[in-house]
Amino acid sequence: MKLTLLDAVWFVNVWLLEHEGQRFVIDSGHGLERPLLNRALRRAGVRPGDLTAVILTHRHSDHAGNARWIRDKFRCPVICHASDARVLSGDEPAPPLSRRGAALHEDLLCRFEDVFPARSPVDDVFDKAGTWKWGFDIIPTAGHTAGSVMLYHAPSASLFSGDAILASPMALRSVEGLRPAKTGFSLDTEACHRAVDAYLEEMPHIDTLCAGHGPPVRDGVREKLLGVRTRLMARTSATSRTLPSSHAPHP
Ligand SMILES: [Zn+2]
Repeated sequence: MKLTLLDAVWFVNVWLLEHEGQRFVIDSGHGLERPLLNRALRRAGVRPGDLTAVILTHRHSDHAGNARWIRDKFRCPVICHASDARVLSGDEPAPPLSRRGAALHEDLLCRFEDVFPARSPVDDVFDKAGTWKWGFDIIPTAGHTAGSVMLYHAPSASLFSGDAILASPMALRSVEGLRPAKTGFSLDTEACHRAVDAYLEEMPHIDTLCAGHGPPVRDGVREKLLGVRTRLMARTSATSRTLPSSHAPHP
């Protein structure tokens, strides 16, 4: 088993996971970084025909922007959740991001995403929570996108969390700081947060947190993820305090 962060790609994390003769690229990076991805894959010794699949945590362009290119160059299938497949394949328009609470630069990125969503043929989909294949569990985190997921790879005890759990406050790998999905970049952040919270309540052993942004997290993973839960619970109770009593959750 070998897990490699293709760190020449700067804006988002692209992972190469090799296990029992299978090679997966998890998330694909933004199209603007394609030359960097190309070089990183070549350096990692990946050649056409070598990849089992490119698996996407969700369809946003920084994660899915090179899916079509990888599919064509390396002759491998593109796989994502069924609820993202229709937008990714161009059969449906991309719903606009909420942009709620987004800082100015984030707002610009959201507008860019709305105008230039990633497009790629999709060869296979997953649509259920739980055990999938190749050792992966699917954890739907709908709400970031309609089909956003986390992928837990049991043989390596790695959690690929996409944008449902971030490992940095910014798109940088030098600063570690775990946090849940950002509201501005999501469709329904509360739904995504609820899914993450439910997963973390009974999370398995995790050796490596491989988030969509931020550094790989290998030390104290459980404690840090419990910290994310604490943030989520604080946010939920703050929300319920601001709701009129008829909308507040029952005790
Ligand atoms: Zn995203």
